[in-house]
Formats: sequence, C-alpha cells, structure tokens
Amino acid sequence: MKLYDVVVVGAGPAGMMAAIRIGQLSKSVVLIEKNDILGKKLKITGSNRCNITNTASFNIFLEKFGKRGSFFRSAFSTFSSRKLITFFKVKGLKFKVEDDGRVFPVTDRSRSVIKVLKEYLSENNVIKNYNTRLINIKKKKDYFSLDLGNDNYMATIKVILATGGVSYKATGSTGDGLDIAQKMGHNITTLKPGLVPLKFSASWVKELQGISLENIRIIIKYGEKKVISDNGNLIFTHFGISGPLILDLSNQIISILEKTETVQFFIDTKPEITIQELEEKLIKEFEIRRKSEFKNFMKFLLPNRMIPVFIKLLGMDPKKKVNQIKKEERNSIINLLKAFPLTITGSLGVDKAMITCGGVSRREINPQTMESKLIPGLYFAGEIIEGCAPSGGYNLQQAFSTGYLAGEAASNKES
Ligand SMILES: Cc1cc2nc3c(=O)[nH]c(=O)nc-3n(C[C@H](O)[C@H](O)[C@H](O)COP(=O)(O)OP(=O)(O)OC[C@H]3O[C@@H](n4cnc5c(N)ncnc54)[C@H](O)[C@@H]3O)c2cc1C
Repeated sequence: MKLYDVVVVGAGPAGMMAAIRIGQLSKSVVLIEKNDILGKKLKITGSNRCNITNTASFNIFLEKFGKRGSFFRSAFSTFSSRKLITFFKVKGLKFKVEDDGRVFPVTDRSRSVIKVLKEYLSENNVIKNYNTRLINIKKKKDYFSLDLGNDNYMATIKVILATGGVSYKATGSTGDGLDIAQKMGHNITTLKPGLVPLKFSASWVKELQGISLENIRIIIKYGEKKVISDNGNLIFTHFGISGPLILDLSNQIISILEKTETVQFFIDTKPEITIQELEEKLIKEFEIRRKSEFKNFMKFLLPNRMIPVFIKLLGMDPKKKVNQIKKEERNSIINLLKAFPLTITGSLGVDKAMITCGGVSRREINPQTMESKLIPGLYFAGEIIEGCAPSGGYNLQQAFSTGYLAGEAASNKES
C-alpha cells in the first residue's frame, strides 16, 4: 500500500487550503471528500457571493472569537486576511469591500473563489478523491491507517481532519470528524448553533412574515438587567426573526436561553430619537394631520403590514382620528415604538445554523501547528475546532488560516 506524506480529510475551505500548502511544500498529499464536488458549503456562503474575509485589524479578528480568540493568534498571523486576498489576486480574482469591512469577490460569485482553489490544487499535484468517506482512523506505529469503508484503506504519515461542524448537514458537514476525534481520545466541547435564526412565541408571528426593519435597535433583558443592545436590520420570518443583526446576536441569546426558558427582547423602531423627541414629533404631526385615521397616520412610522399588529397590541381603534388621541394613548404608542416586545423561545437549532460553535477542544491542540497534543501526526483545521465568530468573513478566514497553518506544519519534518 502506498504511504502518503499527508492525507487531508474534507474539501471545504480549510481542507483545500491545507492540501494546497502541502502540495506547495512538495509533499505527497491526498484530499478526500465524501461529496462528488469540492466546497459544497463554501459555494453557498454569503448568499452565493462568499464573504471571504474582513478588513478588520488582527486584534479585532481575535476579539471576534471571544475567549477562544488567542488560540487563533498563530494561524491569523501566519496567514492573515491580507495574505488570503493576495493568494487569490495572483490568480486574477479581485475583491471589493462592503459594509463593516466585509470582503467579497468582485464577481459576486463564490464559484470564482472555488475555481481559483481548484487551480491551485491541480498545479500543486494534490490527488483528489471524491465520493470517499473517512470512516475511522487507526494509529499504527509510524503511520495512520485510514478506513474508507468497503475494505478500502489508505496509509499516511500525517492526517489533517478538516471535516467541519454539524451545521447544514446537507453540505456534507455531518460531524464525522468530531466522532472520529472523540474515538481517538479528544474531548468535544458542547456543539451549539451559531449565527442562527430565532423563534418567538406570539399568535401574530405569521402576520409579520417578510417584513424587514432597518436601522432599528435591539434591547435584550435578562432578569432586570439590560444585557445586550445593538443596532442593525432584522427580518420577520414564518417562525420568528432572522437577518444580520439577529444572526450576530444569536450566540449570546442562546447562552442566556441555557439559563432561562425565554428571553425578553425589545425592538426600538426609532433609535435615532429619544422618547421626548418622539413625543414632540407626534404632538406636532397629530396637529398637522388632525383628521387622519390612526391606521393611516402610522404609515409614516412603520412598514404598512406591521401596522395592524401594532394597533392590535395597543388595543386602540384603528379608525380613531389622531386629534382625538389622548395623552395616555400617545404614551402607549411611544412606548411600543421604542420597545416593541418579543419573547424569544429558542433557535432553529444547530442544523439551520450557519456555524457550529463547539468542536475539538482547543486545549488539546497546539495553536502553533494545529497538531493534536494527544496524538502526534494528527492535525485539525477549520470549523471542527471549537470557537466561532459573528458574521463578517471571520469564520472563513479562520478556516483558511488554520488550514494553511496545519498544512505547513504537517509538511514540516520537525513537527
Ligand atoms: C449558509 C451559510 C453561509 C455562510 N456564509 C459565510 C460567509 O459569507 N462568510 C464566512 O466567513 N462564513 C460563512 N459561513 C460559514 C463557513 O461556511 C464555514 O465557516 C466554513 O465552510 C468552514 O469550513 P471547513 O472547511 O472547516 O468546513 P466545511 O466547509 O464544512 O467543509 C467540510 C468538508 O468535509 C467533508 N467531510 C465531512 N465528513 C467527511 C468524511 N467523513 N469523509 C470525507 N469528507 C468529509 C464535507 O463533505 C465538507 O465538504 C456560512 C455558512 C453557511 C451554512
């Protein structure tokens, strides 16, 4: 049986980058992938546009991964966002920067990113085995035996597990690598959904389906304390809420939901003005449009389809003329505009999450090399490692950076 220098398992961004780096360093390398194509999840990233990285500083990158950030220090410094962009630019793919430093290919197509990766894989003689699923790994005296099912085995000196997490299982990330790592003695930290839509309980949830609210503020309370407050956009869906702001807050909300059954959530639909300014504005507008019916007046303040729910919650007559609205009613309107309440009951779960938070414990991985501290010669790259960031391109950069570092270290005789 041929003995390879390195076998990389999983052809997502982490595995492809690891295999390319190994090929560049002239080692024999096989990339095995259970799907019949490379980068199935990468293809759907950023709504098929691939938010590949971010222009944020090195320190912000570490901060985005919270208390796990320092683990990625070597990976991000060895293969930074700048190096990642240059890696693609030398093959002719250019990038543009959008809101919050999010970097996308100018083509607006994740396919162009995958095309460049394929080019690198071919020119660096990476052997690609599609439709090949790793079932198990056995550590022999000085090599690893990879069980590929149906009595097929592969022998390799080193192995990199880059099989992803357990989210969007249809893309191939079913957690095989996590099971295999666990069988080999690694601890897997709790697998939680990250960047996931949230569910809320209200009889009118479906009436709001499809409505987007832009530039609003979310205020979340836990007990009597205000624990989170952030501005952005959200969208109501048939089950609850989603959108960039919600996905980014979901990790924190899920942590609170572990301690309590529901989370109180308030939408400030007018964060740019204070309660007092809003009151002055309403008094003035009520005077100008004195004969308007309340339901028509509200069109100046909220999306049309939200108005019936808003008025129902207030318990007011939708046809009431605005000049007949009493002070207490005006105060209730102001309170609801500044703190529209929702009770969050849960998330859509890890399969519908864009990222899995949790994975192989970072304490058992050498952050300088991505090599297992328990099993020399076994490496990890990408989402299989515990730790996740908000949206913005940080997670893909993590996959590329850890893939590059693992590939480089696995090619190095000293490691
Ligand atoms: C809808 C969506 C949109 C996203 N958008 C963005 C974005 O714009 N920007 C961003 O930074 N992040 C985004 N992410 C997150 C990003 O996709 C992940 O961080 C990234 O794909 C992780 O890369 P990976 O290589 O570690 O794992 P994956 O991409 O999950 O790749 C793992 C590969 O391993 C293969 N595999 C699994 N088990 C086996 C086995 N036993 N044998 C052989 N092969 C196996 C799988 O088939 C898969 O191809 C998004 C995620 C989703 C779901």
